[in-house]
Amino acid sequence: MIITKQKSLEDLFQLVGQGPVFIIGCSECATMCQTGGEPQVLAMKTLLEKHDISVSGWKVLEPACHRLNTKRLLKDSKESLEQTKTVLVLACGNGVQTLAGLYEQLNVIPGTDTLFLGEIHRANKFEKRCSMCGECLLDIFGGVCPITRCPKSMLNGPCGGVHQGKCEVDNTIECIWVRSIALLQQKNKLSLLDSIQPAKNWSKALEMNRCI
Ligand code: SF4
Ligand code: SF4
Repeated sequence: MIITKQKSLEDLFQLVGQGPVFIIGCSECATMCQTGGEPQVLAMKTLLEKHDISVSGWKVLEPACHRLNTKRLLKDSKESLEQTKTVLVLACGNGVQTLAGLYEQLNVIPGTDTLFLGEIHRANKFEKRCSMCGECLLDIFGGVCPITRCPKSMLNGPCGGVHQGKCEVDNTIECIWVRSIALLQQKNKLSLLDSIQPAKNWSKALEMNRCI
């Protein structure tokens, strides 16, 4: 899931200006993060109107990053969009770009900051899990990703700073290398760590287009 957080109200008011504003939400990740579901879109509408900023309409897309579906779902909002100066998107950066691509003449602004690809632990608690490196190595590390979950992205064992199982950069998190080694030991696969991993080839993450 793509994890987002709402921008501060101060930033939002500055970005939105005077309106009229059309508000977009997203039925998927932003709904799960409670940053762009229907309740947040309606709360934003009330907030803007309270500050005398007119809202010409709103829609929760399914999802905002689906270009064709977005075009289809916004057909019945044509009139409202014509009266709009600004489209405030409560979705991830991908959703914002989809809208910006479809409505080049409008001021399309992000209402959230996109943080990371993460796992949901419970309502409003998310943890970063994957940096989308383009060549997944989870099999070697016992199913946990040091590229993402070690602040130094150590690829060949822990740094010298691990202390009582905790990370020296942030002692509220476990050293993911301690977990990785324990998991591999449990599976009798510690020998997977015998070979030295070469420096990460980030060119694999550079693919810009894909059709399947
Ligand atoms: S190895 Fe790469 S693709 Fe796999 S979880 Fe880590 S960052 Fe993501
Ligand atoms: S203590 Fe562990 S998780 Fe923290 S930076 Fe060093 S190797 Fe990475």
